[in-house]
Amino acid sequence: MSFNQPVISLKITVIGAGMAGLSSAIALSDINPDHQITILESNASLSEIGAGLQLFANSTRVLHKWGLTPALEKVAFQSSHLSIRRWEDNTELSVNMNNPSSTLLYGWPQWQIYRPDLQKVLFERVKQLPNVSILFAKSVNTVDYETGTVYTVDGEIFEADLTVAADGIWSRSRRCLPASKDVSPTAYREHNYRAVIPRSRMLSNTITAPFIASPEAKLWVGSGVFVLGYTVASEELYNLVIGVPRPSEGVPVGSWNHPANIETMRGLVSGWCEEVRALASLVQEDCVSWTLGEVPPIPSYVSTSGRVALIGDAAHALLPHAAQGAGMAIEDSASLAEFVGHLRSTEDLAKVMSAWSQFRQARVDHLRNISRGNASDMTLPDGECQIVRDEKWNAIRDKQQAQLAELGLEKVREKMIRERPAPDPACKSTFEPGGRMWTYGFDVSEESKKYCREHLGL
Ligand SMILES: Cc1cc2nc3c(=O)[nH]c(=O)nc-3n(C[C@H](O)[C@H](O)[C@H](O)COP(=O)(O)OP(=O)(O)OC[C@H]3O[C@@H](n4cnc5c(N)ncnc54)[C@H](O)[C@@H]3O)c2cc1C
Repeated sequence: MSFNQPVISLKITVIGAGMAGLSSAIALSDINPDHQITILESNASLSEIGAGLQLFANSTRVLHKWGLTPALEKVAFQSSHLSIRRWEDNTELSVNMNNPSSTLLYGWPQWQIYRPDLQKVLFERVKQLPNVSILFAKSVNTVDYETGTVYTVDGEIFEADLTVAADGIWSRSRRCLPASKDVSPTAYREHNYRAVIPRSRMLSNTITAPFIASPEAKLWVGSGVFVLGYTVASEELYNLVIGVPRPSEGVPVGSWNHPANIETMRGLVSGWCEEVRALASLVQEDCVSWTLGEVPPIPSYVSTSGRVALIGDAAHALLPHAAQGAGMAIEDSASLAEFVGHLRSTEDLAKVMSAWSQFRQARVDHLRNISRGNASDMTLPDGECQIVRDEKWNAIRDKQQAQLAELGLEKVREKMIRERPAPDPACKSTFEPGGRMWTYGFDVSEESKKYCREHLGL
């Protein structure tokens, strides 16, 4: 490594203007405003579709570092907790504390946000950066994994020191890397109905009216099916997800706006508690059907030359049950910028980028297990395992309620900070404190710097 030279600025091509592409441009520019960055996006404009996303402290700390908190606070909703309830009678089984606990425990808040709102905030920031340009209607055809040169469908060629491929779950770039050329997303045994219900419709029903401004997010769990509801978009929309234990017929993985059969969806929850039935009754033609899928683990997120790096869903699309799709895209971006920020010669790219890939793969592979763990927890059929799960969850709920009754809110807060749980790398669930600390308490920038020091001597 060339330790005696100053750090260098790079010419960088970013493929895709989704969460990962926009985040990586911001992160790279934030660390070195002299990098010259060009984003290529196949759509003619920003694709303002999607539903709700949750952002936890591991990503809100990064968004804050990029100066985006004021803009995001205008559109994000801060719930106090996620109330986990039984499907048939709405009994509360457990509680995951969100705000202000998130700030007390992990340093940063939890936000619920409408995907187009997050994308717009990232895009507005990108437009302010003089060293970043964005080209729409530029669909990438191939990437040369040795040189990082990008060839677009319309015949343009983009040469760069580094190409960051953020082209989503069906990434063409991933197929240009020899080690991942045959890797395709695999469908999971579940599909989701997704709808965003407007405020006025929520208010038209006496059962759902209180939900729209309620600080409580809700998760109902049943045999093979779960229902998740929370507020987004400055209380203008209620995000509803209904997870069903089979792939959706005729809907490919990564298709985000396939119209759903609403009657089938309603039939699934017809025997559920009145709260769920009321929500299902409000869903109209804006309901979509998603087949869930993952990109299986790939040998590396970078090409051997270090000139091409895959980030976000292109590298590792995960199941959504840990709500970390956008979170991992943001973490990837922040850490990539830290690693690249240490470069003193492009000759070091292969070594530095290989270290970056190993750093990210370890974190993402464990997150993959957590997503699967959550998926299983959320859909256990009634029976022995469900009873064991409920007992564990009830103990978490009871402990919180007993402390609150005994100590009062202020003292509970102090106790929370004093007795912060350690991150538990063995825990495969964000329904348990150790798993939550491992996921949300992670400071990706600091951990990246530490990894660079320990593994690259930088
Ligand atoms: C339309 C849409 C809606 C979504 N809605 C939700 C949601 O409601 N909730 C949720 O949890 N997750 C949603 N997701 C997924 C979520 O955005 C991702 O899991 C996560 O944010 C990672 O983002 P990403 O940037 O890696 O991928 P994406 O967000 O998929 O972005 C990839 C980008 O690359 C572009 N692209 C693809 N191929 C090429 C090419 N050849 N050349 C140039 N550009 C290319 C795409 O147009 C897209 O803009 C959605 C994704 C999309 C695309």
